[in-house]
Amino acid sequence: MAVKSETGAKGAEIVKMKYIKFNHKKGQCSEDALDIRMNYGNKVEVPEWQSEGSAKDLGGKDAALQKASTPNYPAAYSIKNIEGKTITIKVFFECKKKLRSVKIRAGGGGILGGIKEQTITLNQENIIKLEQQKIAGRGITKEKATWNWEFSIDGKEWQKLPSTSHVIYVVLDIPKSPWNLKEELKKPWADVLELACSWASGQKDLNNAFNAIKRNLWNLLDQNHFFYVVGDKASYVKGNTFNCSQFLKDLYKVKRNINRFDCLAIVTALANSLGYESKGLEKLILWERSDLSHYVTRARWKPNPINTGKGIDDYVIIDKDPKDYYDTIAFHSTDRSQSEGIKALQTFHQEERKWSDLGYHFVINGSGTIYEGREIHIKGCHVAGANTGKIGISMMGNFQDKGFFRNLVDDELTSPTTQQMLSLKQLVRVVDCNYWIDKAGGHRDFDSSRQCPGDNAYPILVRHQLINLAESKEKDTLTDGYSLK
Ligand SMILES: [Zn+2]
Repeated sequence: MAVKSETGAKGAEIVKMKYIKFNHKKGQCSEDALDIRMNYGNKVEVPEWQSEGSAKDLGGKDAALQKASTPNYPAAYSIKNIEGKTITIKVFFECKKKLRSVKIRAGGGGILGGIKEQTITLNQENIIKLEQQKIAGRGITKEKATWNWEFSIDGKEWQKLPSTSHVIYVVLDIPKSPWNLKEELKKPWADVLELACSWASGQKDLNNAFNAIKRNLWNLLDQNHFFYVVGDKASYVKGNTFNCSQFLKDLYKVKRNINRFDCLAIVTALANSLGYESKGLEKLILWERSDLSHYVTRARWKPNPINTGKGIDDYVIIDKDPKDYYDTIAFHSTDRSQSEGIKALQTFHQEERKWSDLGYHFVINGSGTIYEGREIHIKGCHVAGANTGKIGISMMGNFQDKGFFRNLVDDELTSPTTQQMLSLKQLVRVVDCNYWIDKAGGHRDFDSSRQCPGDNAYPILVRHQLINLAESKEKDTLTDGYSLK
């Protein structure tokens, strides 16, 4: 017979870690982990970690998450609830020999911190304090924390046990509606925390977290992972339900159209899972003008005075909330240079056309700079006889054969630039989220005598899904307390 050596493998046969519970106090989260689910269809089972043989397959739909946490379930902590408090876990070590207790300790642990040497009772649950945890320090985060466990019998040499790894999500505060920790089906999903903690990683303030979520969705739209469409053609919102499972499944894989309700649902579901509380969905303006990186206000480009006296347009001041007045976007081209100065265009409209001001509400040049044109509370002058309710957006450039209807071309025939199209798409989202637009079309769609915005531009607008003339009869809505599936 060989002499017994105290190797790690041998040690594991004497004392074995059976399970670890993170969320061990139901309904509380000031001492332990939050109540969460995996996703719509799957619960998180406690104990979250079990030794091989007793662990069940996760069965989650998100392959990446499953890989990261198989065969164990993740845990989540709220910084606001645990900061300055002692967090505990419950562990169970079993021993087939007639030992009553051993000393244990664990190095590593990442943000959960190491576990200092202490005596535990075998074959029953023990509460362990995480005295070295650093959960609050990094703000919102997702981490794979690994403990390297050891035990010692009667103060003799330390013997290694298998390491345990745990996916830990850290949010800023208790998740808010549509999440509700008290109802099983509304507990925040690990699949959502996975995305939210990644998009808002490192944020320590709820407003910044919200903005980070918004910016990441914005980037997805800029990169054409989804096509933003105006009007009531939501892909993920039906009635007052957000199909979050489908959104997560499509993400980075399937290009669907999404609209303002989808964006509201996505941003609030993600941001609220981190503890943010939207201040009433109806009033939430998702995109602010400051989200437009190349936006130049009138104050910055210093326009000529408004020609109120002798303009042929009436300079009509809209006497209601612009959100209730506008329902349509009309796309134009200027038929002039793609690099024209905005003030030259204004002067042309005022002096040649005899208008009070620029006819359009927004103008985008070939470099993608967006200029504030006519102020939004003034009725536009861009579709003859049919300006009511229409926001005019014009791209600088001549996108039709020279001199196609006014002989005003002073630039070569061209096409919208990539930057111009990117800015246009961003502007359409801002305008739609602020004014709730039903329809968007080219000038030619509203006046068949016009070719504007030109044959070199119109098909590009179509390709980017910016033209939407079919107004849906079904109105999507999304109110506070929407439900998820
Ligand atoms: Zn036009």
